[in-house]
Amino acid sequence: MQRHYEVRTNRKSSIPPAYDVRGGGMSFSNLEIKWQHIRELTKILVVGTATFTSAPATVAKTLSTLGYHVVLVEDVLQAISRIKEEKFGVVLVTIAQPGKEQGNSVLERMKQIDPELNVVMLSLRDSSETTLLYLRSGAADVLSAPLAPEVAQTRLGSIVEINYLKSELRTVSNENQIVNSALGELKSEQMEVTAARDQAVRQNDLLRTECQRQNALIREYETTIRKKNEESESIDSSVIFLNKEVDRWKAEATTLAETNRELQREHTLQKEQLENLKKPALLSGNEAAFELAKQVEINNALVAENRKLKENGGKIVQNQALLDEFEGLKKTLVKRDKKIASLRTIEVKLEEKEETIKSITKDWGDEKRERMAREAELIEMDRSLTIATRRITAYESHINELKGKITTLCWRLALLSSELTQRYVLNAPEFWSASEEGAEMVQKVKSSMSSPAENITQALNAANNPDMNPTQLRKLLQQVLDSIRSSNNIYRPSVTQMFEASPLDDMTQRWMEWELTSPLENQNPDGDNDVVDLNLDATVTSTWNFDVFNYEEPTLVALTVGMFRELGLLKKFSITGNTMTRFVEDVRASYRTNPYHNFRHAFDVTQTCFMMLKEGGAMNYLNPLDHFGLLMAALCHDLDHPGLNNNFHCAARSKLAMIYNDMSVLENHHCCVAFKLINKSKINVLSGLSASQYQEIRKTMVSAILTTDMSQHFELLGKFNTRLGTAEFSKENANDRQMIVQVLLHASDVSNVAKPVNVRRWSDLCFEEFLCQGDKEKEMGLPVSPFFDRKNTDQVKLSLNFIDYLTHPLYSSLTKVLPKLEVCLNWMKQSREYWSKQSESEVVLPQVDKKEAAKFVQKTKRAALEKTAAEHRTETTRSVAADRLQPKRTEISVLKEYLNKRTTTREKSCRSGPQLIYLDRKLFVR
Ligand SMILES: [Zn+2]
Repeated sequence: MQRHYEVRTNRKSSIPPAYDVRGGGMSFSNLEIKWQHIRELTKILVVGTATFTSAPATVAKTLSTLGYHVVLVEDVLQAISRIKEEKFGVVLVTIAQPGKEQGNSVLERMKQIDPELNVVMLSLRDSSETTLLYLRSGAADVLSAPLAPEVAQTRLGSIVEINYLKSELRTVSNENQIVNSALGELKSEQMEVTAARDQAVRQNDLLRTECQRQNALIREYETTIRKKNEESESIDSSVIFLNKEVDRWKAEATTLAETNRELQREHTLQKEQLENLKKPALLSGNEAAFELAKQVEINNALVAENRKLKENGGKIVQNQALLDEFEGLKKTLVKRDKKIASLRTIEVKLEEKEETIKSITKDWGDEKRERMAREAELIEMDRSLTIATRRITAYESHINELKGKITTLCWRLALLSSELTQRYVLNAPEFWSASEEGAEMVQKVKSSMSSPAENITQALNAANNPDMNPTQLRKLLQQVLDSIRSSNNIYRPSVTQMFEASPLDDMTQRWMEWELTSPLENQNPDGDNDVVDLNLDATVTSTWNFDVFNYEEPTLVALTVGMFRELGLLKKFSITGNTMTRFVEDVRASYRTNPYHNFRHAFDVTQTCFMMLKEGGAMNYLNPLDHFGLLMAALCHDLDHPGLNNNFHCAARSKLAMIYNDMSVLENHHCCVAFKLINKSKINVLSGLSASQYQEIRKTMVSAILTTDMSQHFELLGKFNTRLGTAEFSKENANDRQMIVQVLLHASDVSNVAKPVNVRRWSDLCFEEFLCQGDKEKEMGLPVSPFFDRKNTDQVKLSLNFIDYLTHPLYSSLTKVLPKLEVCLNWMKQSREYWSKQSESEVVLPQVDKKEAAKFVQKTKRAALEKTAAEHRTETTRSVAADRLQPKRTEISVLKEYLNKRTTTREKSCRSGPQLIYLDRKLFVR
């Protein structure tokens, strides 16, 4: 009861729970309850009580017992007025007289009112011809009275279901449109906000620079002013000092001049005295002597006076010199005064400047405030951006959800439509084509190598052809149904189906299970270098005939660099020849010396990729960064390969298997080693790339290397084939480019059989590596991989299998995009011929001892047994298919018989003319 209630409340959701992509599965009973509920909500208009038969009333009763809401009206006129007023899920029109005219006019009138209306014709008289006519004129179905409840339930139920699913699809699509437009608005809003933000940031930066410039100017002015002030202060103090000195000198000079004048006066006086003294000396002796003594005395005094005078004279001269010096000093002072005056003017100017700076600083403060306001605005913008982004993400996930719903609904619609079409076709005479059982088997065998998705795409594409007859259409739709039912892995063919369709020997079967599917799917049974000459001619590598075994490894390194250079990649991504050479040298050193997975193989794959780009025309679908990514991926795709495959690592529970959880163990390891090498700072060949370019090339390389895992083969090929069925590949589409890079690398990795040289040599090396692994498996007590056991292996068969199941389908698909690779298909054909010749020659018994001979006999016996078993399997498949066909055949034979009877009656009616027509009418009127 609780479940019943849940289902009813779920009705509000736009999708029935059974098809809800989030909800997962739903039990049949719940589904039935769901549809019962939908039937209860569906109104059915039954028209035709005026035909005077009980058929319409009986049908109405049947339908209401089935849970439909039924409205019963007399005739078409009443029905039309009801249709104009309310909505009916189905209109059931009773046709008394089967005839083209009547039925078509009713259909036409009803469809004019509502083109979507489901009109079902209820024929009182059964007639295959009119049935087809009504269906072609747009009737949803044609039923015949009396209507059995099961028939009413299934056929009207399908119409109601389709109707319901269509309306759901419309609702979801509308919602999707609304969400998409909202998303567009949000995105443009986001762009606006981002642009505004960028502008604000730019303005802010400009302002900041201007402020810094002005600040520097102010600092410079301040320093100058300080210096000038200091200078003028020192000048001031020296002026004061000098002024004092001058005063002192002046006073001294005055005193000296006074002294001199006095001395002069004294001197004159003494001269006069001397003259006076000279006169009496002429008078007498005594007197003369006396006078003489006196004179001597006077003379002495004069001499002293004279000395004094002389001394004073020196002092005067000295003073004069001091005065002169003072005059000089005076001149210096005048100069200094002038300098001071000029400094004063500078000071005034500086003060003016300071004023200007102050005003600028004030302005700057205003700008700073403005900037802060802008920053706040920016933070606000960022916040709204984050919100918008979050909303966009939410919208996008919602859109994805809706897309999922739409896909589910489309599938459901296609399924129901095909079921309906199948029913119609069963009524059509064209159906009775002879023995289609055989054709169906052939189709089954053919389709077993394709994945479900490929089958569906092919069938739906073919169904679009308007010229297709119903039998073909039926077959196609049956194929679609089979494909949908067959698998969870929509892109991978079912391995068991392949085995059923074409009998394979045990070893090949096990190999396909083992090698071509992921280990996780398998049932576990038990559980600095020298730089060589860079100027090698790159054109030697520009051929499919390039023989990698003709060159030593150092030469191959130089040739690798040459290929990068030839494609213009070194120049384009700013890599020097030396850096590239060092990198390739490091790559070479990182490959081990396995028989097959070594540097020579890496070079071979790289050169094949190079050829596919240059000669195969792949360049047109990729951009230079992809060319670079493809060659780098090819060069690195088997780095540090240990010579043991993924299955070995998983079975042996190796360290690597633990690190990568058994998923593409080696491929993950190759990627990891590659990027470790690339990120070594000395030889970083990707250092010239921008961050986004680095991200892109990393994505390309990782995805390409990971798809070299053989267990990814069918998934990749299936996707590629499905993509081939739609529009042309586009260089603008990143997904397309990625897919092409993946396919090119995978194809190059298995290209040994697609090239004209060394087919056998590569095979031998590869086989040697396999056998070594087989030895190791035995040694470790692990189950030995199929074909890897030295004592029980078949190189020829494995090589043929490899071409038939792997490389040929891959290259066939690839050639559809790159027609120039047709040459590879031809070489592959030659390789296959070579191996099949080998297989013929090996039929000759080898020289063996008795023991070996006994073994051989046993082996032959086992092969015979296997063959019988395989035949038995095929027979079983055939009989199962026949059993499945049996009910249909019975149905067909019943219908055949019925039609024969009808034809006979009709022939009779033609012979007996009007009488029988009358009888018919009478029958109707009754
Ligand atoms: Zn490889």
